[in-house]
Amino acid sequence: MNILVLGAGQLARMMSLAGAPLNINIISYDVGSRQLMHPLTLDVRDQSLSDAIAECDAITAEFEHIPDDVLTLCAASGKFYPGKQAIKAGGDRSIEKALLDKTGVPCAPYQLITERSHLDSAIESLGLPLVIKTCQAGYDGKGQWRVKADSNVEQIWSEMSDFLAAGSADAPHSIIAEKMIPFQREVSVIGVRDKAGNMAIYPVTENEHNGGVLTLSLAKAISTDIHQQAVDAFSKLASEMDYVGVLAIEFFDVGGKLMVNEIAPRVHNSGHWTQQGTLCSQFENHLRAVAGLPLGTTEALGPSAMINVLGQPDIPADVLSVSNVTSHWYGKTQRPGRKMGHINVVAESEEALGEKLTALTAFLSEEDYPGVARRGRELV
Ligand code: ATP
Ligand code: MG
Ligand code: MG
Repeated sequence: MNILVLGAGQLARMMSLAGAPLNINIISYDVGSRQLMHPLTLDVRDQSLSDAIAECDAITAEFEHIPDDVLTLCAASGKFYPGKQAIKAGGDRSIEKALLDKTGVPCAPYQLITERSHLDSAIESLGLPLVIKTCQAGYDGKGQWRVKADSNVEQIWSEMSDFLAAGSADAPHSIIAEKMIPFQREVSVIGVRDKAGNMAIYPVTENEHNGGVLTLSLAKAISTDIHQQAVDAFSKLASEMDYVGVLAIEFFDVGGKLMVNEIAPRVHNSGHWTQQGTLCSQFENHLRAVAGLPLGTTEALGPSAMINVLGQPDIPADVLSVSNVTSHWYGKTQRPGRKMGHINVVAESEEALGEKLTALTAFLSEEDYPGVARRGRELV
């Protein structure tokens, strides 16, 4: 079976690796260069998008910022999952918030901004500090501003108005102001829904960010109440969109109550631990759903961790000397802060996971891999 993936980054690469044992062959479409390529070698294929759409059995996406013409072409084929509506909900925060409001799933209080006066009224009604985000662009914390009491609002507005002005009548730009949520921690849930509406949900993952970028995820015991809130949000959102595939939801945990930060209509960085931490990874389950195959188990084999490798030239080979540790390299050219790969750890107990994280600190510096030492200590 051939599946066309919109996007040619590490998520398409890992789908390709998960697809091989299922006899699923992945073809990537790089939306930036508008070229079809092999997701592992990045060798360009001399084929048009229309021909690839006609020849493939199913189409999916590894990211949400996809031009409308490409989405429309894929949607017209009738084999695009999770579909145009879901991709748009993930790629435009104004659509995402409308979906959250419609389903009654709690999220950070917000206000849309399309002109200068809206910024003043957002400051007035939501209060400071504010997190301001571009609605149609941005990932890894890019395209955001923080407005605090001592911020230069005029300077921030001038950057915001540049973004607003870059929109067009066909594709208008908007900006959203959110109340800064004083969360205790961030968690996410990754679930999968098939064409018949069956759902399977992985354990809730606790996530740490640095400068808006995910650095570390932990999948370990969590209260049934938190798990239930995450499952409720997943089933409401996935059912509303008649979603097919893997859907990720990021939350803020505020005193035991989950509030959605954002959704991602795709496999997600906070689910990479499932590659070793479960028998059926998020990548495999996504392909199974899209291909119309039965869903696989989402049960964890043991407490697990995922450490992001950001901007490093290499993953230290010595990490592999710690048992049950695997390294995943994306084959990308190095740039400061760029997601280059990740390290997965799975253990028999939380204590054993703590010991493994502590052992890894011999090879992973606190500066480059924040949180590993601290989480290791906490778990032991
Ligand atoms: P991603 O790579 O996850 O798609 P993104 O660019 O879409 O990132 P967000 O997830 O919206 O960005 O924000 C990045 C991080 O900034 C969050 O994980 C959280 O730590 C912080 N953040 C975002 N919104 C808020 C908020 N309203 N209150 C407090 N912190 C926030
Ligand atoms: Mg995002
Ligand atoms: Mg996010």
